[in-house]
Amino acid sequence: MANPKYAEATRDIPQAVDVGELSDGTKIRKRAPRMRACSLKDAKGKLCAGHLKRWFFFGEELQKLYGKDAELYRCEKCKTVYLPNEDETPRSGTLSY
Ligand SMILES: [Zn+2]
Repeated sequence: MANPKYAEATRDIPQAVDVGELSDGTKIRKRAPRMRACSLKDAKGKLCAGHLKRWFFFGEELQKLYGKDAELYRCEKCKTVYLPNEDETPRSGTLSY
């Protein structure tokens, strides 16, 4: 008899989503909620697992895309840029359009 508990292992786990690439080839991805480590895999399928750190001194290209006060993160290993996930970003109320 099938154990219904096994079904849980195959349910959807939120994944980071590729959103683009910079002109120098740096990947831009959006974090999955509560994601703390890079989930990028290299050509051999090895997980990067570098820590995502808040990044403040990003270049002009990212400033143009997301604004110079954007909340960005960067993998300390592969330098992939991560955007925060809107599901977990606390509304600070400082943005106004
Ligand atoms: Zn990485």
